[in-house]
Amino acid sequence: MTSRRPTSTKPTIDPVRSRIMRAVPQSHSKPEVRVRRVLHRLGYRFRLHVKGLPGTPDIILPKHRTVIFVHGCYWHRHEECRYSTTPKTRTEFWKEKFNRNVERDARKREELEELGWRVITIWECETKNDNDLEARLRSYLTTKI
Ligand SMILES: [Zn+2]
Repeated sequence: MTSRRPTSTKPTIDPVRSRIMRAVPQSHSKPEVRVRRVLHRLGYRFRLHVKGLPGTPDIILPKHRTVIFVHGCYWHRHEECRYSTTPKTRTEFWKEKFNRNVERDARKREELEELGWRVITIWECETKNDNDLEARLRSYLTTKI
């Protein structure tokens, strides 16, 4: 398993590589695996990648009527996150592309909420520390809606 991009340095922007990244389903990215591991430890039962729900959420907790998206900070534009950099070249092109991602995410969230789902977004940078991640998930999931 090769890592998709270095975690500590700025993401490299190579059009060929990004085309490949788009083509490869990101369904078993490491951040998602970390979220699943913590949920499991907390005793939550969940399902993965349920088709037919808007946006095909990464993790679904049917009993809690909750879906979780595990978002990469870079592609999904985590606000004020140091991983959410913008390339110095072809800036407009990338901004448009990023905007489309953000708009799509917002639309899917709305659709899910209209269907009565609680939508939780966990950002990649929030999965780096297991204890923090556990506290975060616990607090999200025990908050009544
Ligand atoms: Zn982030």
